[in-house]
Formats: sequence, structure tokens, C-alpha cells
Amino acid sequence: MGIQLDTPVQFIKGVGPKISALLARKDIHKVGDVLQWFPRSYEDRRAAKQISDLRPGQLVSFVGEILICRDIQMGRTRRRIYELVVKDATGRIACKWFRVPFKDYFKAFTPGSQVRVTGEVKNYRGVTEIHHPEVRLTEGDSEEVESGLLPIYSETEGLNQKLIRRIVGTVIGDAGGLVEETLPEWILKDFDLPPLNESLMKVHQPGEEDVTTWQQFRTPHHRRLIFEEFFWMELLLARSKVSAIKEKGFQMKPVAGLAQKIRADLPFKLTDGQESCLAEITGDLLKPHPMHRLVQGDVGCGKTIVSFLSAALVLDNGFQVAIMAPTEILAEQHFKKAQEIFSHLGIKLGFLSGGLKEKESQKMRDEVESGNIQLVIGTHALIQENVSFKNLGLVVIDEQHRFGVKQRAQLKQKGGHPHMLIMTATPIPRTLAMSVYGDLDVSVIKELPQGRIPITTRVVHDNKKKQVFDFVRDQIGKGRQAYVIYPLVEETEKMDLQNATDAAAQLTEELKPYTVGLVHGRLKPQEKEELMGRFKRGEIHVLVSTTVVEVGVDVPNATVMVIEHAERFGLAQLHQLRGRVGRGSHKSYCILISGYALSDEGKKRLSVMEQTQDGFRIAEEDLLIRGPGEFMGTRQSGLPGFRLANLVRDVELLALARKAAFKVIETDPELKKAENLKLKNAILQGRRPALLFAQIG
Ligand code: ADP
Ligand code: MG
Repeated sequence: MGIQLDTPVQFIKGVGPKISALLARKDIHKVGDVLQWFPRSYEDRRAAKQISDLRPGQLVSFVGEILICRDIQMGRTRRRIYELVVKDATGRIACKWFRVPFKDYFKAFTPGSQVRVTGEVKNYRGVTEIHHPEVRLTEGDSEEVESGLLPIYSETEGLNQKLIRRIVGTVIGDAGGLVEETLPEWILKDFDLPPLNESLMKVHQPGEEDVTTWQQFRTPHHRRLIFEEFFWMELLLARSKVSAIKEKGFQMKPVAGLAQKIRADLPFKLTDGQESCLAEITGDLLKPHPMHRLVQGDVGCGKTIVSFLSAALVLDNGFQVAIMAPTEILAEQHFKKAQEIFSHLGIKLGFLSGGLKEKESQKMRDEVESGNIQLVIGTHALIQENVSFKNLGLVVIDEQHRFGVKQRAQLKQKGGHPHMLIMTATPIPRTLAMSVYGDLDVSVIKELPQGRIPITTRVVHDNKKKQVFDFVRDQIGKGRQAYVIYPLVEETEKMDLQNATDAAAQLTEELKPYTVGLVHGRLKPQEKEELMGRFKRGEIHVLVSTTVVEVGVDVPNATVMVIEHAERFGLAQLHQLRGRVGRGSHKSYCILISGYALSDEGKKRLSVMEQTQDGFRIAEEDLLIRGPGEFMGTRQSGLPGFRLANLVRDVELLALARKAAFKVIETDPELKKAENLKLKNAILQGRRPALLFAQIG
């Protein structure tokens, strides 16, 4: 009786309690898990190079001797850079780590050790070096062939490549053939994919040919495994989307009364983008099932009025509407706008937020429940359990990325199936939107209202600060206002706060007699509101801030946005911040101050900001540079942790997997057909996610 896929790893030949404890740290508990421990790269022994031949951009592998082994403290921060300098007969090169792979990783290396280094050569501030390479001692490693491709795994303390390869090899030999197929024959055929067990084995045993295909994860086997990761995600999204169509919603009748009156009062004409978005929303509202629509539109494109006009139709039909914003400031801003627009038309408005006194809040909730209040605007407080509606017909969520998927689900439980409109100013690239919001319909508002004066953006070095603040003074002299932003990074929060505080003090001195105010996350909400209020009224000329002004604040008189340490921000975030200016009739400026000499990459990155104001282009660049996890912010991303798939690199496969998944759900939603039996079994036997398929059986 050999090992099975669910046999604990401890029973693999050569793996005892000690090694299995180490494997557990990598979340590898069973034999089957070992097969899914995919190589993170492939090393080409034949491409071994001499150090003098290394050029930026190459993926290389070479042997050498360690010359220097040290860590370097970064300025006065607690950050350290770890460095190994490796030499061979032709030259030397520095390998650098900005974080330690694991505790004591560097203990194994001492000057004089023979090592093999594998990694990508970089040009960093004009110097050729390698960041985060795989390095390992070559002593005693001589039996390994010096030709062909070798799989490289991410290591853990006590588990070196050789040991990992041996364990994986044993498992493939004993259990590789036991893996059951999860995808139906027709999908394999239509999408030209090899069988699962074959792919699972082959990715661990690279061939001799097509080196780059392997190194870029482009072999049929990689394609197959990546396809499958996407497929199951898309199957869930497809399922959720298709079942939403079956839900019974509140079907509106086409009445134009209220909307017509609002339009008549507007001092502007809607843009084409706003009109077509509104037409899509109206179309949804007239259908018998609930709308789930995401509106993507750059900062300032005018999403608010679109949501108000959508609300008008629902109100006209006698239903309640809730509009939810991520912060008190924003909610209040929306409330004031709504009052201007709706109050004189006889609509009863309410405001609900965590900041209200319990008595007021209770009164408000009562009026919402009785239906006396028709349009309620607020923060998260709106979706608390103690709030109930009489007949909630539409929920609008502004700035979705602050809410996350969970709250969406919470909202769904608010009785009936209200229509849902989600608005985001983070222009999410299409591919990412497809995977994260794949169960939503998407409308895009591309253009900004006419007459907006483009914002001039400049990247300047720290040493030009004097000129920057002369410029700020000049603008204030002309009656304008300015923001100065400091990044607040959590790990060094205290120090950054100190920086912002110092800077505010220094600015106060420099910009006398103008007034400088400082807002940051540690202030009480009340203090924050009061400062923002004073800035809005023009009593404060310069608002120094950590990133709290990021979302939605509207001060049209502010024309300068200065961002310190701009290199620490993501591009999408910089774009959001820049959107705080350029809102009025005056020419606006965004000045990005870079803290230290930037790498070529860093310069290129920031210069995108100078070149374009197109949020979608910026988002695409950002996604490419930082990857999806960081781009979305890991906490709110709702992205599944992929093992092999990469949303940037594997866009094409994502589209294919989506196509396959939708085909399955549209033709066989309950997986009843014989041709989809493999899918059903994979779910029933717990080999693949069951989440939304509870009723299958
Ligand atoms: P966002 O999409 O960032 O939420 P807002 O809805 O806050 O943008 O709109 C930004 C500003 O543009 C507001 O002052 C709004 O009144 C104005 N606005 C909206 N639509 C138009 C339009 N079609 N023409 C001119 N100004 C508009
Ligand atoms: Mg907005």
C-alpha cells in the first residue's frame, strides 16, 4: 500500500517528523500539497555566465566565491539592506536583499564560501547588481548535473533546494499519477489544455528545450494550471452573476418627473459619458431583477449627479434610497449637495453616521423605518443591524474600494433585493475589474466635463523645495490655497507623523503671515472636521496632511498639491491626491517631490504622472509595476491568493478561463449535465471550492 494524496507528508520516504514540521510552515501537510508546491523559477545551468558578462535584464545563473557579507543600515531608519558581494575570475557583483528571506538566512554565508547565484540582473542607480537572488552553497552539491533546467523552489529555513527536489521527486514517482482530473474533456479540448496529473508532474520536471518558455511560465503545463486557477474563480463569479438575474427585485416604472425637474435646475449639461451611464442604470432599474452595477469614472467626472438622477427614478416609484460614503466628511458633502438638489422638490432627506448622538440617531432610524425619510445619506452606520428600512429600493455606494466585498454581502441582507450601484474613482484596469468585480456589470465614464483646465504636474528633487514653497506663497498671494501631503507609512508611523508635524511648523514659519493647518489620522473626528471646515472656508491657506484628503474633498479654490516623498506612493494614489486640485476655474499644479536620487525605474514611474492625467493609463502602469495585490491594497483586494497565476502576466488566460466558466454556468448552472461531471465531482469531493454551490448534490 503506497502513499495516497491525502497521506500526511511525514510518511513520504525520507521525510520524518523534523522535516514535516518544516514543511508545515510552508502550509504543506499532505502528499497532494507537495505536488502543488510549484517551482518559482527555473535555472538554466547551460546559461552559466561570467560576472563580467552580466547585463541588466538578463535572468542568469553563475558560480562564484563570496567576498563580502554584510548588512547596511539605511540612514537613521531601522531599515537594513543585506549584501553579498560575489566574485569570480572576471569580476564582482553585489547581491542585495531589502528584507531577509527568513531568520538566519545569511548565517550560512561567509567570505570564501562557493555559491551559485540565480536571479535577474538590474541596473540600480547606475550600478549593475542583483536583488533577491537565489543563492546557495555549492559545496557537496556536485552530483547535480551541470546541464539542463533545474526547478527552483522558494526555500524555508532547513529546507534547501536539493532536499526539496528530492521530496518532490519521490512524491511524483509514488503519487503523481493519482491526481484526478478536475476539468471536463470538452474544456481541455476547446482550450487545448493537457490533463491535470500530467501538468502537475511536468512543472516539476522541466524539459531541455524552450528555456524561456519555461522561465516565463508559458509551457502548456503552466498554462493549464494557471487556466485552472482562474477558472474556479470565474466559475464562482459567473455563478453569482447568473443567480442574481434570477433574484426578484423591485422593478421600476419609467417616470421622469423628479429627474426632469433636477435636470432643469442643473447649471450644466451632462457629458455623453454621464448620459450613457445613466441610460444603462435606468435600463437596469426597469428590469425585474436587481441591478449590480459598478460605475468607474475618474475623479471629477461627475458621478455624484449620476447617482442622484438614478435615485430620482427610484424615489418617483415610491421607494427609499440610501447613499453610503466611506468617511463622515464625504457623507456630509453628499448630504449638502443632496439637500440643494432634492429639498425644494419635496423629498425628505436624512443623515446617519457614527458621529451622531444616540438620541438623534435613534430618531433618524425611526424615521427611516417608518418611511418618512425617503433619501438617507451616511457612512457605514447605514448598514448596521439596527437600521431597517420601510422599502429600500436602491443603495448607492460611493468609493467602493474603501468598502470591500464583505460589506456588499452585508448590504444584500438589508431586506428584499435592493438595486445596487457602486461608484469608484479608482480606475481599475479592465482585467482586474473582471476578476474582482466579475459579477458586476460595469459602466465607464471616460471623459471629464468640458472646460476643466489641465493640471500641470512636475517631479522635482528635494533640493528644490525652496522654489516649490516660493511658488506656493505666490499662489496664496493670488488668493489660492494649497495642500502639502506627507506619506504615513504604518511601520514607521511615529516618525512620519513627526515629519509631518515638523514640516507644518517649518512651513508656518516660512509662509508667514499665511496660515498653515495640520490634519492627520490621530486627530479626533471632530478636530479633523473643524480643520477641514476652516480650510474649506479659506481661513487656512495651506493644509498639511497625511493622506486623509485622499478621498473626495471638494475645495475648488485649492490650486496647488505638493506631495513630499512622492516615490513612496503608488501612482493610483498620487492620481487620487492630484484630483483634489483642478476643481475650480483656476489653473492648478501638482508638484511631486522625490526624497532621494531615484532609480531609472523610479524616475520612469513618476514621470508617468507628468505625461498623463488619464486615470486608466496610470492605473495600468501602476498595476504593471506593483502587481495586483499592492495595487488594490491587500486588505481590501478580495483577490484570491494565486499560486501560479499572475493577473498582469496572464491576462489572456484569464479571459479564456472566464469564457469557459461562463459557458458552463450559462448552459448548465446546476452542473447536472454528464459532460460537466468532473467539475461537479471536484466540488463534491472537496478538491475544488464549493462556496456558492451548496445546493448541488
Ligand atoms: P466625482 O466623479 O469625482 O465624484 P463629482 O460628482 O464630485 O465628481 O463632480 C465634480 C464636480 O463637477 C462637481 O462640482 C459637479 O457639480 C461638477 N459636474 C458634474 N457633472 C458636470 C458636467 N456635466 N458639467 C460640468 N460640471 C459637472
Ligand atoms: Mg465622488
